[in-house]
Amino acid sequence: MTLRYLSELTLPELEQAARGVPYQRLPDELFPGIEVWIRRDDLLDPLISGNKAYKLLFNLLEARERGAEKIITCGGAWSNHIHAVAAAGRRFGFQTVGIIRGERPRHLSATLQDAERFGMELRFVSRDRYRKRGDKSFLQQVGLEDKRAVFVPEGGANLAGAQGTKFLGEVIGRTEPVHFDQVWLACGTGLTLAGVQAGITEVPVIGVPVLKAERSIIEQAALWLQRSGNSVRLQSLRNGHDCGGYARTTTGLMAYMRRFERVASVPLDPVYTAKLAYGLQCELEAGRVTHGQKILLLHSGGLQGRRGLPGWSNNNRSGGA
Ligand SMILES: *Cc1c(COP(=O)(O)O)cnc(C)c1O
Repeated sequence: MTLRYLSELTLPELEQAARGVPYQRLPDELFPGIEVWIRRDDLLDPLISGNKAYKLLFNLLEARERGAEKIITCGGAWSNHIHAVAAAGRRFGFQTVGIIRGERPRHLSATLQDAERFGMELRFVSRDRYRKRGDKSFLQQVGLEDKRAVFVPEGGANLAGAQGTKFLGEVIGRTEPVHFDQVWLACGTGLTLAGVQAGITEVPVIGVPVLKAERSIIEQAALWLQRSGNSVRLQSLRNGHDCGGYARTTTGLMAYMRRFERVASVPLDPVYTAKLAYGLQCELEAGRVTHGQKILLLHSGGLQGRRGLPGWSNNNRSGGA
């Protein structure tokens, strides 16, 4: 399949791209007894991909409507969101500023190098300052107040972001190649879980937390559903597959990721999608998945972040695979 670049910032353009995202049936060898597919939202666009793209593009549509020229946002050194904002700003003609947690290091991460290359202005702020990013006066506190700017919270986690992921859920409902019994996705904040469930009301969406915050994920997801006026029922999470916490890995996880990539020829990232696939594999082994079910895994992107892991860069694969 050839990758297509999103060429304009409009809803029909996004819809066309989203409808063109491929679904792949995974080899039975990986998940014996169930039928597993993966929706490749990592392929939505070469630079603006995954669930962050849906959150972000809805934010940008809103910013354009308001006549904003500049997008200010925040994130960490390997943030998929920062990367997507910088790329989208360049593509669609917004100036971008990224407020980054911590001091400017001697060597920028590959993510931040890209962001600067795309034209994003990086502002490093202390961890104490960064902690206040939810305050109303945060931009003032870091000296970035600007009437022509729109502030997009970390990860695109706001109402527009929730609407973007709801749109993704609707698209899945309209394009599924077979009728799925469940959709599984990786959860950080839980916003994507809420949004996709709001969009695909008939199919239960199962979240696999990638960090130890199951309670807050459910609370956040419920809050987003309430704030966006959706009354769908949230399904439960499948806990215990975070491998020690956010961005932590285990040898079991990494071995599984390599096997999955070899057998399915689908690249994963160790922070989110590898834990999703591994989580399903562990649940299946433990007898907690009904045989014969058709399950969709959502590939939520994040592959640029792989470069943060020694020996796992996209271009320079080393190790056993
Ligand atoms: C941010 C992210 C998630 C988690 O999304 P939430 O809406 O915060 O739960 C999942 N996968 C990838 C690749 C991400 O970058």
